[in-house]
Amino acid sequence: CGVFGIFGHPEASNLTYLGLYALQHRGQESCGIVSSDGGNLHAHRGMGLVADVFRDESLFSRLCGSSSIGHVRYSTAGTSDLKNVQPIMVDYLRGSIAVAHNGNLVNAQEVRNELELSGSIFSTTSDTEVLVHLLARVQADSLAERVSEVLKVVRGAYSLVFLTETRLVAVRDPNGFRPLVLGKLDGAYVFASESCAFDLIEAEFIREVEPGEMIVISKDGLQSYHPFGKVTPTPCVFEHIYFARPDSIIFGRQVYGVRKEFGRVLAREFAVDADVVIPIPDSGVPAAIGYAEESGIPFQLGLIRNHYVGRTFIEPQQSIRHFGVKIKLNPVREVIEGKRVVVVDDSIVRGTTARKIIKMVRAAGAREIHMRISSPPTSFPCYYGIDTPTRKELISSSHTVEEINRYITSDSLGYLSLEGLREAVGDPSIGGGHFCDACFSGYYPVKFPRLKADSQLG
Ligand code: 5GP
Ligand code: SF4
Ligand code: MG
Repeated sequence: CGVFGIFGHPEASNLTYLGLYALQHRGQESCGIVSSDGGNLHAHRGMGLVADVFRDESLFSRLCGSSSIGHVRYSTAGTSDLKNVQPIMVDYLRGSIAVAHNGNLVNAQEVRNELELSGSIFSTTSDTEVLVHLLARVQADSLAERVSEVLKVVRGAYSLVFLTETRLVAVRDPNGFRPLVLGKLDGAYVFASESCAFDLIEAEFIREVEPGEMIVISKDGLQSYHPFGKVTPTPCVFEHIYFARPDSIIFGRQVYGVRKEFGRVLAREFAVDADVVIPIPDSGVPAAIGYAEESGIPFQLGLIRNHYVGRTFIEPQQSIRHFGVKIKLNPVREVIEGKRVVVVDDSIVRGTTARKIIKMVRAAGAREIHMRISSPPTSFPCYYGIDTPTRKELISSSHTVEEINRYITSDSLGYLSLEGLREAVGDPSIGGGHFCDACFSGYYPVKFPRLKADSQLG
């Protein structure tokens, strides 16, 4: 998911709309904006893309006020339907509050069970809703104290923005799994999942919200708190591999350069004699450029993408996912025919994309096809907000590289090694931590309850 927030700007909801536009790659299922006019909150939310949900310009006069938050969603917890659209907005004893969440709370089900036993009635199936129920119960006087108390109950990944009538709160979990950046525009503070949102609205990038930091903005300015005990940060390496936009700066580095470096290391680890390097667009492009530069093999666009189709993997239905590859990509025969081709992509999840593309490239006349993946085999599911499927659907959880090579019908297959990944990405800039790479290594930095059958990791 993607989140955005702005406090103290006359065009708050309009700028939030633009910010969400820039964050659309982080979720296409649904989106929403909540604004505050100082006395009341106003909301508009719906299923679909930002441009569709906010088609009607008159919406922005309804979303009045100088502060607002927004969200683009793809589901990791909870079903994909209207009741789970964010920001969640509630009225309680102390007024109104809205929240937008990127991440996944690993103990949400436990907390929810307890709350339900003591009388709470939930209106969504999303993990995020436990936050507002907890908020309604804690007693502390200030909003900052109440939010910190609530966040001590939940565990997992969260980059959050809260909006009340008079305040905006932005928090990153102590591990800092998901990105969240702070900027300024015309004197107003802005927050976004990724810096590419600031580029669009011409906000100045100030810094990242630190792992474990809570920032409260009110008419009195900015206050920063560190309500949690010291934890070694473990931001998500998969943001650099796939999820974030290449033009964003997250965890201290621009994503584009990191992806190219993955490609370079991959070229050193899995060199091959070939005539051309082609990416699977768009996710494989920077790594393919790195691979081509390092190997000296020319880079070409051998597959053309239809840009009017969303990312297939975010479509929640299996039937659409299969159809997705053909509708999205078509080979360029003159680049491929008679050639030994290196095909570069960022990851193999189920293996269906790679298998179909290799068939396509073979049919376009490739003499040899060498598949290169700019991340290690994805063998473990993510519990921190990336929608990887269950363990048994992950092809590399039960198959060797050679078996996968046979399944996808490539002539050779090479994955970036875990050591190569760690070397290329380096350490995150803030807090002396290291990256989470649990989906590759099986080393989970935050424990989760073993609720799912596939979480028996041993
Ligand atoms: P597959 O067909 O192997 O299931 O999906 C691989 C393709 O999905 C790759 O091209 C990759 O860019 C994209 N992808 C990246 N991350 C994810 C993810 O977290 N889940 C899924 N299902 N696909 C992803
Ligand atoms: Fe990111 Fe993978 Fe860790 Fe999930 S398990 S937070 S996708 S690195
Ligand atoms: Mg892809």
